[in-house]
Amino acid sequence: MIGPSMAIVEHMCNIVRKLLVANRGEIAMRVIRTAHEMGIATVAVYAEQDRSAQYVELADEAYLLPGDTYKDTYLNEDLLVDILHRSGANAVHPGYGFLSEVPDFARKVEQAGAIWVGPHPQALVDLGDKITARRVAKAAQVPPVPGVSEPVRELRTLLDFAHTYGYPVMMKRTDGGGGRGITVVRDDDGMRRFFMNHDAMQGGDLDEYFIEKFIDKARHVETQCGRDRFGSFTVYSTRDCSVQRRNQKLIEEAPAPFLPAEVTSQLEMYSRSLFNKVDYIGLGTCEFMVTPQRKVYFLEVNPRLQVEHTVSEEVCGLDLVREQITIADGGHLTPAPTPRGHSFELRITSEDPATNLTPSAGTLERIVWPSGPGVRIDTGVEPGDTISPKFDSMMGKVVITAQDRAKAVARVRRALDELVIEGVPTPISLYKRIFNDDEFTTEHGSMFTVSTKWLERKYLGREPSTVRAGQPASLSAPAAGQDSAREEKSESFVIEVDDRRVKLTVPSDIVNNLMGAGRARGAKRPTQPLRGSGLHTVESGKAKDLGRSGVIASPMQAVVTRINVAEGQDVAKGDLLVVLESMKMENYVYAPVNGTVHKIFVSPATGVEAGETLVTLDVDGAKDKPKGDATTAAAASGDKSGKQTKGGAR
Ligand code: ADP
Ligand code: ADP
Ligand code: MG
Repeated sequence: MIGPSMAIVEHMCNIVRKLLVANRGEIAMRVIRTAHEMGIATVAVYAEQDRSAQYVELADEAYLLPGDTYKDTYLNEDLLVDILHRSGANAVHPGYGFLSEVPDFARKVEQAGAIWVGPHPQALVDLGDKITARRVAKAAQVPPVPGVSEPVRELRTLLDFAHTYGYPVMMKRTDGGGGRGITVVRDDDGMRRFFMNHDAMQGGDLDEYFIEKFIDKARHVETQCGRDRFGSFTVYSTRDCSVQRRNQKLIEEAPAPFLPAEVTSQLEMYSRSLFNKVDYIGLGTCEFMVTPQRKVYFLEVNPRLQVEHTVSEEVCGLDLVREQITIADGGHLTPAPTPRGHSFELRITSEDPATNLTPSAGTLERIVWPSGPGVRIDTGVEPGDTISPKFDSMMGKVVITAQDRAKAVARVRRALDELVIEGVPTPISLYKRIFNDDEFTTEHGSMFTVSTKWLERKYLGREPSTVRAGQPASLSAPAAGQDSAREEKSESFVIEVDDRRVKLTVPSDIVNNLMGAGRARGAKRPTQPLRGSGLHTVESGKAKDLGRSGVIASPMQAVVTRINVAEGQDVAKGDLLVVLESMKMENYVYAPVNGTVHKIFVSPATGVEAGETLVTLDVDGAKDKPKGDATTAAAASGDKSGKQTKGGAR
């Protein structure tokens, strides 16, 4: 019989004493901070590029992960377990991305006798795969988005589904994440093209996809949940994450606005059923789409901490990393109090609004974060740091809280005026427009004005990319997008007129001309004086012309992940040529016209610069029989994914 004292000893062993943080950047900082507040020692790991990163300094100990690839470093399960032993840590926090949803790694940690700060490995198995998660949902009486909860095998099934439910539909990778692995298909032709491009017979990955109805004009609403080993369940807050690009979140808020109380209770009820169904122990997020008719569809469960957990913390007043560690320790969760106030999170990425938010690498020259009441900054970068194309483009998060939504909006505007980032482009100018846009800031009766495609449609001037549409690249900004592009290309100077400070904003073209002339007389050009403006623009016009002449150039600095054609192969307009990856975003490069592949200039795993030639085509002008309505050579950015670990690691 185990006496009480034995039980106490056993419990004592299960307390997190020393925590290995198997992640990098801002989330590593976030976890280390709470660990230190709890008196827990911390161990960081770092790849060479991160040697001087802030989180490495902040941890009590740090271990190098030698190697160049994600696989060698942040995804190197065995090395991480080895470091767990060497450091004497007795727990692992995976952060988000990387190994956070990998059941095998969670198992290895547990087998090593350490505490996994996350749900048990079986919950990761049940929920990590989107098809299994849909099945769990059905069993829990939670309706998923209409779809087929089976891997794709036959074109016929896809066409039948589309004809029953109507186009557009979404093809989703079952292991997708972070917006990757999602393709919108708008007609039979597009469906056939998708099927061909991914057909297993051609070495594709068709069976890793499933089909879902495309829910238009809906909001992305989610619940931040927690459940402990005693079966207590709580929703710390709801969140709305409808401002997205490439199916990935940019702006989030808590609590989710404009929802009737019945919808909120339905979301909570569904979430509780999902968590109970898999005996989930830990923190996690249930994601839903809410239609303008307030119908709720289940999307997925993210069995980990999420980027946007911050806004829930702000309105529920709890430290969610502390909650995670307490639950992993076998303790009780804190039942969430009624949310107080309203909080927004703005992801500060190195993406250029002038080129439809294409990620861009570079070196941070200057940063001035906002401060003052209600401002929280979570970041892991400093001036001088390089934003590498190898990693995610997110540099930090600005989290703004006030007593209600309107006051939070006003506070965001004020904070954005204080925020300065120089050296890499950022969406700051776009955020200023959004927080001054009545469609975003105000409730409009029963209709949602903002939905998940709102940002792309209104500000980036593009429909979500589709297979049919011949890939309106993130590069070719049509009507509305050009507006923002034009606005981006200006620079500001402070001058004094009669001893009074005056700010002068001048179109960049004029500045360039003046400075060109000025430089001859020794004038010095200020370094990147405009807040958040872009240095790294992609020359879309050039890419277009190159396409017509048969030269297919890379739209961005990237790594080649797949070449889908061979020299001498005939291709039709719209066929997939090359897959690129940059900053965790996949870009599919399609044939702009019919022709024959003349020469391939790159090979898989090689790096390419923006504008570098990938492939040349002998253009087959006379026999041009278009398959779609593609008009330009370009890459369809983002909405598709390659074979990657969830969370984007390679
Ligand atoms: P991820 O794992 O990449 O987060 P999700 O399934 O959560 O994948 O979807 C991410 C985003 O893609 C959603 O927030 C939404 O904007 C969009 N999306 C996903 N599924 C659908 C759908 N069936 N209809 C419309 N939009 C969708
Ligand atoms: P989701 O979009 O799936 O609901 P998140 O927004 O929390 O959830 O992040 C999605 C995924 O995107 C994460 O699993 C992570 O892999 C990746 N991700 C997003 N931002 C970053 C970042 N700054 N660093 C690393 N990974 C990131
Ligand atoms: Mg998601």
